[in-house]
Amino acid sequence: MTMKDEGILLVVSGPSGAGKGTICSALRQAYPDIHYSVSMTTRAPRSGEKEGISYYFRKETEFRELIQRNAFLEYAQVYDHFYGTPKKYVLDQVARGKTVLLEIDIQGAMQVKKTYPKGVFIYIVPPSLQILSQRIHDRGTDSEEVIQKRLSQITRELALAHQYDYIIVNDVLEQAVRKTSAILEAERCKLSRNEGQIETIFKQYITKEVSSK
Ligand code: 5GP
Repeated sequence: MTMKDEGILLVVSGPSGAGKGTICSALRQAYPDIHYSVSMTTRAPRSGEKEGISYYFRKETEFRELIQRNAFLEYAQVYDHFYGTPKKYVLDQVARGKTVLLEIDIQGAMQVKKTYPKGVFIYIVPPSLQILSQRIHDRGTDSEEVIQKRLSQITRELALAHQYDYIIVNDVLEQAVRKTSAILEAERCKLSRNEGQIETIFKQYITKEVSSK
């Protein structure tokens, strides 16, 4: 029987407005084999967002019930709403050797790091606070009050960057995507992630050597 290697849990995180979403979309386009973990949230859908694709939109009572049932790999309250990663899907796919992508906030990433330290943790940082503020305003999806809340949280969030494996300054988008892809490629080649495959290849060599004698 061949040994099956575990997949990769790729956690892309960082302050709101750092460009995680854009980078993750580009990464998913470049790597269609990536399994994206659709989060659950209690916030209302924004225009264009679709149930089960953007998020699973749920009432707070249901979300709390799922917390009680330990159904989340991580969850966090982000600016008045709950967000969480359904556990089963993620763990099942990783066990099957797949790459699973999580795009989550920093509190959530820190929880995943505790329960699944083998994950790959990437911190996306905006080039400056000014640019970040501009991006959040340009997005035009949030009220001024929400924007101010988001910005005031950033200083605390930046302090957690050193807990990650990689940091990417999202200055030029194409470069940020290229760096994220490079991290994924390198992680996929890590010896520790390919022991099953190596064993299978070695076995083939041994069998060949024996049969050619
Ligand atoms: P938004 O409301 O703009 O879609 O997301 C707000 C923040 O919540 C973003 O930083 C986003 O990455 C984060 N987020 C989305 N899904 C999850 C999740 O499942 N868990 C956590 N902890 N954060 C999430």
